[in-house]
Formats: sequence, structure tokens, C-alpha cells
Amino acid sequence: MVGEKDPVLILDRLRPLYGEGVYPGRSDKRSRPDWMDIPFNVLIATVLSQRTRDENTREASDNLFKALPTIEAIAGADTETIELLIRKAGFPVQKAKAIKSIARIVLEDHGGILPTDMDALLSMPMVGRKTANCVLAYAFGVPAICVDTHVHRISNLIGMVSSRNPDETEIQLRETVPENLWRDINALMVRHGQVTCLPRRPKCQECPVIGCCDHGSSADR
Ligand code: SF4
Repeated sequence: MVGEKDPVLILDRLRPLYGEGVYPGRSDKRSRPDWMDIPFNVLIATVLSQRTRDENTREASDNLFKALPTIEAIAGADTETIELLIRKAGFPVQKAKAIKSIARIVLEDHGGILPTDMDALLSMPMVGRKTANCVLAYAFGVPAICVDTHVHRISNLIGMVSSRNPDETEIQLRETVPENLWRDINALMVRHGQVTCLPRRPKCQECPVIGCCDHGSSADR
């Protein structure tokens, strides 16, 4: 292990490059659509983002919310209709079924208001800790660490955590990162993973945290 793993220092070095970061699936702040101000839509977009690329999430989300702009419309739509609207995001049968089911749960069990409670979110189909934390952080603005593939990979490369899966990464980050920075972790590391710390070929010589990073500082690079 090399350097200082101070998460405050690491995030401070990333912030000037990426600002406050952006929500996953939206790599450009200027493209932020109005529907992202609605927590239910943030949840559905996060479900759509599973196992697909940002541009596919964007197209599927825009199609869905343009054609079916309310929770009631999604809950009342045929799953086949939803499948056609979201097919760009992949796994349309599984995702359409989950999206319709989530809409019904929100309407029938929560009065049409997406709950802010982690357990309530986790009870919904296709909602795991990553998705629930994304919703808490990005839709409700509460402290939460959304560990996606970038956060899991980069945290381990740097040496901030030593974990086998995203849930372990979240637990370890919660122990070392101040709560007021939890939301920044995802926003900054997603952008870092898209721009500099690329999955197959990280640009370590351009990286502002190379001095803190186990991988970047390793002798055989
Ligand atoms: S030094 Fe390299 S591996 Fe480490 S965070 Fe930067 S780009 Fe990623």
C-alpha cells in the first residue's frame, strides 16, 4: 500500500476535474432532463441502467417517460408496451415487468410517493443496494454511497478498500469516508472511470490521485 488513503484528499483531487459529477446515465450536465427531478423516475432510470451503457439508459428513459409520463400511466400500461419503449436498455422483459410492478407498489402501498426508506426500496423488484443508494443520494439528497462498477473498481485500485463485491465496498467506505462526502463518491468516481481511470486502460499518468493509488504507483506500470 502506498501514499495516504485520506478520502477527503482523494475526492478533493478529483473534484476540480469533474465538478460535482453527474447522475449515472447522464455524462453531460447540459443534457439533464426535467424528469430527473422526480424521485420515481430516478428509480426507474436506475433500474434501466442495470447491465447497459449510459447512452442506452438515456434513450430508454427518454422514450419511456415521454410516452408514459406518470406513475399511473406506467402502472396501467401493458408490459409489452413498456418492453418496446425500453428495449434499448436490454433485458426488456425482465425490466418492463419490474418497472410496472414498482409503479403499482408505489401507488398501492405508498400513496403514489416514492418512499425514502431503504428497506422499502429494497423490497421492490430489481432494487438492490446500489439502486436504492443511488435513489437516496440523487433523488432525495440524503447521505448514501452508491457503489456501481466504477466505484467498486476504483476504490480497490486505489487501495481505499479491499473488497470482493460492491456491498463489501459500501460497508468499508462507510467506515472511512465522512458522511458529508458519501454522495460525492459516486458522482466523482463514475466520471473518473469514464474519463481517466478507464476499465481496460487507466490513464494513470494523467491522474491526479496517482500518488495515493496502489495500482497507479505500482513499480511494474
Ligand atoms: S492512478 Fe491509475 S489506477 Fe489509480 S485511480 Fe488513477 S487512473 Fe485509476
